[in-house]
Amino acid sequence: MSAIESGNSANKLTRDWQDRDHRHYMHPFTDHKDLRGKGARIITDAEGVYIRDSDGLQILDGMAGLWCVNLGYGRQELVDAATRQMQKLPYYNSFFQTAHPPAIELSSVLSEVSPPQFKHTFFTGSGSEANDTVIKLVRRYWTLLGQTDKMVIISRKNAYHGSTIAASTLGGMDEMHKQTSILLPGVEHIEQPYYYGLGGDLSEDEFGLQQARLLEQKILQLGADKVAAFIAEPVQGAGGVIIPPATYWPEIQRICRQYDILLVADEVITGFGRLGEWFGSTHLGIEADLMPFAKGVTSGYLPLGGVLVADRVADVVIARGGEFAHGYTYSGHPAACAVALANIRILRDEGIIERVRDDTGPYFKQRWAALAEHPLVGEARSIGLMGAIEIVADKSTRARFDKDLKAGPTCKDFCFNNGLVMRAVGDSMIVSPPLVMEQDHIDELVDKAWRCLDLTAASLGHSE
Ligand SMILES: *Cc1c(COP(=O)(O)O)cnc(C)c1O
Repeated sequence: MSAIESGNSANKLTRDWQDRDHRHYMHPFTDHKDLRGKGARIITDAEGVYIRDSDGLQILDGMAGLWCVNLGYGRQELVDAATRQMQKLPYYNSFFQTAHPPAIELSSVLSEVSPPQFKHTFFTGSGSEANDTVIKLVRRYWTLLGQTDKMVIISRKNAYHGSTIAASTLGGMDEMHKQTSILLPGVEHIEQPYYYGLGGDLSEDEFGLQQARLLEQKILQLGADKVAAFIAEPVQGAGGVIIPPATYWPEIQRICRQYDILLVADEVITGFGRLGEWFGSTHLGIEADLMPFAKGVTSGYLPLGGVLVADRVADVVIARGGEFAHGYTYSGHPAACAVALANIRILRDEGIIERVRDDTGPYFKQRWAALAEHPLVGEARSIGLMGAIEIVADKSTRARFDKDLKAGPTCKDFCFNNGLVMRAVGDSMIVSPPLVMEQDHIDELVDKAWRCLDLTAASLGHSE
């Protein structure tokens, strides 16, 4: 490793940040013991699709922050929107029969850009809070309809729905379940539609149907009168960009309708353009009853989340419900709503979502697919502007490297040190770049990814 790659070039300022970071800052999703010897990478500023660290290294942000900085960094319009709103009305709430213009306006605009069944939005501060809200809305809905036994929510293994106790329960991450000793009752999980990992000898279409029918089996096992809802990400994100076979969602839709189960599409990642439509549901032909969202709604400039509520649910919970005893101090925060409005305006005015659909998405698909020719790559898949590659020891058997070799994390480190953010989920490498990427950024992303796969192969002593 060169000096840069091993981090020896860290200047004094960086070491000072790292030292204080280590002494005081408890990070989310971080093994601090593992971090101790290395020191955190300190990100100091960003512009466009690049971030910069405290040593001055410019890094192409292949993850758009955490799947959220859809417009890229440095958009003055978003800064101005927040500033103006903070000057005029920095905070007010919507509890107890009050409201304010930014939340009203944003809920109206959301009803324009979302599928036709959605006219109402409940705001939260994050995606996790949105999914806690989903649980309460679902149960409130069936209770108001007198079906008090319809309580169970079915989710999927390896799903990510957030990090509060309720959202961790909904998610299907084993490690999170292990550490959350009190899980919410009434949540069941079925297997995910992960073709590369679980498909075996089935065709993709057969596998999609088979995995969707796991939902039907679960409903029949529990009794349809006990099942309230099914929740899923249109494309699983944090689980490793799991793109379901084409047969999967239509069958899920049929099952939810047949057994009268609410369908919840967690659009926290796929909302606001990631798949080349305003919502991933539209791209995949899903007709959802509730759509939690967050992340891309503000391009991450301020925290905001919410749940889009279809008329079917709104007509019960809002129109004839009495008080819905739920809300957050920052539900519909005025500055966050103002930023979301500016964000949506830019997505519209600059045709960014159409560009993902017609231009950068297809270009990315073709360039990303070529990574499958790398000796280390078992599969390269993508949809819209999200992609995954599977690092394998043997392409023909799909055998993985020994876990102790940490092939994925090794590749991730090579990427960071060579100017690319690509995330590792086990030995899957994933990207979800800003939607404003141009074709030459995509070239840069794929070229760097190839080079870092070379470095990874060399460090693993792997040859074809
Ligand atoms: C990130 C994420 C969440 C949680 O959002 P937070 O804002 O981190 O609470 C929920 N669902 C999905 C699909 C996500 O990717």
